[in-house]
Amino acid sequence: MIQSPLIEDSLDTSNTPEFDGDRFDNSVMQTYSRFPIAIERGEGCRLWDTKGKEYLDFVAGIATCTLGHAHPALIAAVSEQIKKLHHVSNLYYIPEQGQLAEWLVNHSCADKVFFCNSGAEANEAAIKLVRKYAHTFLDQVEKPIILTAKDSFHGRTLATITATGQEKYQKGFAPLPEGFAYVPYNDITAVENAIADLDEGTLSRVVGIMIEPLQGEGGVRPGDLEYFLKLRKICDDNKILLVFDEVQVGIGRSGRLWGYENLGIEPDILTSAKGLAGGIPIGAMLCKDFCAAFEPGNHASTFGGNPFACAAALAVLKTLEQENILQNVQARGEQLRVRLRAIAKKYPSLFVEVRGWGLINGLELRSDINLTSIDLVKAAMEEGLLLAPAGPKVLRFVPPLIVSQAEVEEGVAILETAIEKLLSNS
Ligand SMILES: *Cc1c(COP(=O)(O)O)cnc(C)c1O
Repeated sequence: MIQSPLIEDSLDTSNTPEFDGDRFDNSVMQTYSRFPIAIERGEGCRLWDTKGKEYLDFVAGIATCTLGHAHPALIAAVSEQIKKLHHVSNLYYIPEQGQLAEWLVNHSCADKVFFCNSGAEANEAAIKLVRKYAHTFLDQVEKPIILTAKDSFHGRTLATITATGQEKYQKGFAPLPEGFAYVPYNDITAVENAIADLDEGTLSRVVGIMIEPLQGEGGVRPGDLEYFLKLRKICDDNKILLVFDEVQVGIGRSGRLWGYENLGIEPDILTSAKGLAGGIPIGAMLCKDFCAAFEPGNHASTFGGNPFACAAALAVLKTLEQENILQNVQARGEQLRVRLRAIAKKYPSLFVEVRGWGLINGLELRSDINLTSIDLVKAAMEEGLLLAPAGPKVLRFVPPLIVSQAEVEEGVAILETAIEKLLSNS
């Protein structure tokens, strides 16, 4: 459709007091159910919509804006880099990509890094690597199987919706790629049984387990220590690669740099994306040397590891280090959980429990009431606090990692006001 130049003018919201959502929906494919606000500007943990209303942001672009909005270190890094060089292709060496890979290798259990642009792509790379490893190093496995967890979330490409153990993401997209099977999360017997049941000798067997150290989307469910210790041993005993999807929980969100550090074990492969460049698109798949089975030509990405995205990620990681942000994540996370537990205790007719690590926390609603996480998200938004659902019954708190003590107090106070209003209106 040919558009009048007026449409472009009207999308420049600084000139128009009213953002037109209907007009937006006329041309943007409706794959999201959006909340009816349009965000125009941000600073730190605050956002402002096109009507000038201020919000405290406990969503951070869904666990992505590590340093909040308009952070001076990120502004400086991307401004410098865009003036110098923003994209060249992996036909050539890219110094910033090398620096970022080195930082990641020096600060993780991994030895090698592949860069891409999103969480789903990082997981795709991991799935391909597991298969390549199986076909290269294991005895004639024709159909390698990757086990994943029920209620997991691994992305929206065909392979990653198949890896995702939730039917609602797969419905309508058959035929799905083969080679995936599912087990309940935190249930070691189910893993043992699945490995035994699926073993058809050299033809087909489990060669990888892909799992989140803490399930984010699936309801903010932390991994069980004992389960993961046993999972590591099962993988070692059966030559199974252990893949951690750290797309949401990695890069400091858990109070440690990586989610796996909370579980006392190391994965063979791990993926990162959301928080890695603080909101500039990037993805990374990291692995140990023994399973780095890709050869030149096996995998690639046009944008992957470009100088711009890598400079942004380096700025985020150096700021995390220099400003001791992990300490803040631990302290603010503890503060938030204490406050949320007080709320859960005060309203036992609404809430079941609070759980999480660092600054990824969930408040679970009772299953026997009509109230959903979306209802609470809307009520909080009305009062000026942005929260995200994690499934129909869990309210997710993933603020920028720089959130202050006062902002945590403020956020919880706003939530309480929203709850009181919901209760008095029902
Ligand atoms: C968000 C998310 C993904 C998908 O990331 P995209 O960048 O949206 O592709 C994958 N895994 C987990 C655990 C996530 O939270």
